[in-house]
Amino acid sequence: IERTLSIIKPDATKRNLTGKINAKFEEAGLRIVAQKRIHLSAAQAGQFYAEHSERPFYGELCEFMSSEPVVVQVLEGEGAIAKNREVMGATNPANAAEGTIRKEFALSVGENSVHGSDSPDSAKREIGFFFSGLELV
Ligand code: ATP
Ligand code: MG
Repeated sequence: IERTLSIIKPDATKRNLTGKINAKFEEAGLRIVAQKRIHLSAAQAGQFYAEHSERPFYGELCEFMSSEPVVVQVLEGEGAIAKNREVMGATNPANAAEGTIRKEFALSVGENSVHGSDSPDSAKREIGFFFSGLELV
């Protein structure tokens, strides 16, 4: 059974949407096996998103991700990585399919409510970035 790292981003925590977003995950058959609310520093956000450090939106992304608390979580299920990305919808909400989290809740391509790991390697790295072994049963 697969696990993936999910983040409910500042635009969504600020609008009190954590429960509605979690309901989407659970309806899709994803189980929330770990979850906590944290406030990232800009440096920590930058480290998490290091793969995007050369992109023009990197500064804006780090500022946004450290602007308010986020909810970081581990989701578990069959094909959890792909299933989560399906439930999230396209990065740009204008392109997101009906019923997806980003279609319903995202404000823009930057403030797009959720993050999800994009491969088994990134899921492993990203889960380890936020959670210790003791927090994962
Ligand atoms: P995430 O990694 O957050 O799950 P993603 O994999 O769909 O999203 P990426 O290409 O990895 O998209 O981009 C990471 C994040 O950077 C996006 O979710 C978004 O918040 C931000 N971002 C991406 N493209 C842009 C852009 N053109 N302008 C502003 N922010 C952007
Ligand atoms: Mg990504």
